[in-house]
Amino acid sequence: MAVPQNRTTRSRRDMRRAHDALVAANPAECPNCGELKRPHHVCGSCGHYDSREVIAQAAVESDEDAA
Ligand SMILES: [Zn+2]
Repeated sequence: MAVPQNRTTRSRRDMRRAHDALVAANPAECPNCGELKRPHHVCGSCGHYDSREVIAQAAVESDEDAA
């Protein structure tokens, strides 16, 4: 098994980790309901994408069940 010849210093280790930060999400407003949503994803709030309903919402489904 390969064994490191030299100890990695705190400085070297931390320089490597300088690029490990998480990148913040870039949410955009849904044009239908105004809720924040991820770009290029269906809106989790109203189920719309590209100005049309892609996923029927729970409220609509429950109305159908009641009728
Ligand atoms: Zn929406």
